[in-house]
Formats: sequence, structure tokens, C-alpha cells
Amino acid sequence: MTAAAADTPASGRGGRNRAEAVIDLDAISANVARLRDHTGGRDLMAVVKADGYGHGLVESARAARAGGASWLGVALLDEALQLRRAGDSGPVLSWLAVPGEAYTEAIRADVEVSAYSDWQLAEIVAGARQVSTRARVQLKVDSGLGRGGALPADWQRLVDQAATAQGGGLVEVTGVWSHLARSDEPGHPSIAAQTAAFEAAVAYAQSARLEPRHVHLANSGGVLASPSTWFTMVRPGIAIYGVSPFADGASPVELSAAMTLRATVALVKRAPAGLGISYGHTYTTERETTLALVPLGYGDGVPRHASGRGPVVVRGKRFEVAGRVCMDQFVLDVGDAIAVAGDEAVLFGRADRGEPTAHDWAVAADTIGYEIVTRVGARVPRAYVGEVAR
Ligand SMILES: *Cc1c(COP(=O)(O)O)cnc(C)c1O
Repeated sequence: MTAAAADTPASGRGGRNRAEAVIDLDAISANVARLRDHTGGRDLMAVVKADGYGHGLVESARAARAGGASWLGVALLDEALQLRRAGDSGPVLSWLAVPGEAYTEAIRADVEVSAYSDWQLAEIVAGARQVSTRARVQLKVDSGLGRGGALPADWQRLVDQAATAQGGGLVEVTGVWSHLARSDEPGHPSIAAQTAAFEAAVAYAQSARLEPRHVHLANSGGVLASPSTWFTMVRPGIAIYGVSPFADGASPVELSAAMTLRATVALVKRAPAGLGISYGHTYTTERETTLALVPLGYGDGVPRHASGRGPVVVRGKRFEVAGRVCMDQFVLDVGDAIAVAGDEAVLFGRADRGEPTAHDWAVAADTIGYEIVTRVGARVPRAYVGEVAR
């Protein structure tokens, strides 16, 4: 038991600070600025949907604007309206709607909306008529993602309908856009194929005398690695939070991780050899050792799939989750390392500080870094740091 820790709590944080996600807003601003430089100063639409990928919708938006994002992109109209309520008055595009969507609110709030189909465009026109205000619309073509948007076979009809509506004064088509299926695989032939299909769709819109000012295709993977996809504007999400979209976790542009997920070790105890750890006893201590209890679990978004694998740093040493991740907690076997209750445990943060990254957790859980940061739960308080936060 020589090097082993006593179970005496470290002073300071105590139980008041079980865990937190520290969000460095300056990192978001810096990432946006670097991505803009990388794309030759093109317009940049920072994607802040899903609570800013877990980093906070309004805070991320403010940081992105400070870094030079002229646009914000969100999936839901509710998210756009939340930005407006928080005082953001700049250009915002929202792109996922259902029949009966509250377009009147969007139009009144000066939120640009997307149209994928003729019935959707008809709803937008009806909304514009109701509030006697011209709706600004961006048409989305499915250039090969096979998800939202109008397929090429339906594109001409949508464009023609939009041109008619624009002639009637109820809508203004400000943009044409699409989304990539495999931008995380630079050089994949689907990128060139989608780019060509997109160019054809834009050309048709122009021939129908729409004059879309904003022509955009690239999400993070395209922004980082496929310049042919940049057009007039780029639309990065994950990269602005400092997480790579690529399978190897690398990035050709320096990115700073914005989120650090940390917890306060709740309990440390010396344990005998042969002790089964956590539900199902999928891990058993091999010899007398020290266990540290970390008070975060899948109820906080720590993936249960990372059981036995997720990396955690305590006092500068890296350990892996021992046994199963539970709803509220998991265990580390720190061997004979020093640890006391109250120590800081960092699940992920900055590689340049020797911390594991969201990408490391993605590998451990067989998922992507997007899911790791976005699923950090509402139970985990966010602490904002950086100049932008002040
Ligand atoms: C989420 C999303 C983005 C951002 O994608 P990243 O891969 O995070 O950069 C861009 N465009 C659309 C339509 C999206 O849904």
C-alpha cells in the first residue's frame, strides 16, 4: 500500500462541483477565423444546431459571430427563434421543417428558411401572404446525399414554382444549397459527382432567372479538405468546436478543442485482488489496487459503449474506464498511483494539455466525435471561459 492514496478528500471543490463541461468560447472564435482564412475569406455559416453540438446554442453563436461567421445555421426553426430571442439579429438559415411549420413566426423574425419540395414552398408562400412580408428562402437540392432536398428529377419543378412565387413578390430566393454524403473522405468520387450535380442545379436556377447570392455545399470535411466544394459560402459545424470530422482525428487546419469534460473524483478506495468491478463484473482487479469513482455516466452522455475503454486523465496519468459505465458513475483502476477524492478527472479536452480528446472517446465507443460532444447531457453544467464569455 506504499504509493496508494488515502481516502482523504482533497480540499476545495467538494461535492458542489460534481462535473462540468468547460467551454472555451475563444477556441470557437479562433476556429471560425482559421476556417475563414483557409477558405480565402468566404462567407462562413457556423452551424450551431443541437445546442451548438452540446456547447450551448446562444454562446456558441456569439463566439462564432465574434470569429467572423456572417451566417448561423440551425436545423430547427425553434433554434433560430431562440437565437433571435437572445438578441442575435444577423443572417440565420434553418433547414428542417415539417408540414404545418410556423413559417409566419420565422418570416416575422427574419429567419431564412429552406424549401425542399413544392408543398413546402407553398406553405412558405402562404405564411408570407399571412404576414404580408416577403419570405427569404433558400432552395435545397439533393445532389447525392440521399436525405433532404429535392432530387434532380424534381428540381426544375421546385425552381419554376419558386420563380413564379418570386415574381409574385411573396418570396425572395436568396440561396441554393446542398449537403455532402462523404466529405469526411477527401478525394472520394462522390464529392466530385455531388459537386457537378450541384453546379447543374445552380445553373438551372440561374436560367430560371433566380439569382441566388448564396451558393453552398461544404460542411466541415469539405471546408477542410475539398476546395472545389466551397462556392460562395461554407457551412462548418463540428470543426468550429475543434473536433475533426475525419476518421483519424487529424485536421489540415489547426483546430482548438472547445469543450473539456471534467469531473471531481467522488471516492477513492484501496481494493483487494479479485474484486469484480461495476455491473456485470466485466472487469476484475488483478491485484491489490486503488479504485477511483468518477461521478459521470450515460445519464450525462458518457457512452456506455466505451465501457472498459474510455480514457480518463487523473493527476497527469491516463487510465481507462474499468468495467461498465453506469447511469451516473464509473470506476477507474489507478493501480498504485496517488489519487484522492476531490481530484480532477478529465474525460476529454485538449490534446496539447495531454488530455484525451472527444475523438479518443469516439474511437472507444465506436462512434464519431460529433456524438461525443453533442450528447453531453443537460445534467452537466456548462462553464464558459474566454474573452467572448465576458
Ligand atoms: C449539421 C450540418 C452541417 C454541419 O456539418 P459538419 O459535418 O458538422 O460540419 C452542415 N449542413 C447541414 C445541412 C447540416 O445538417
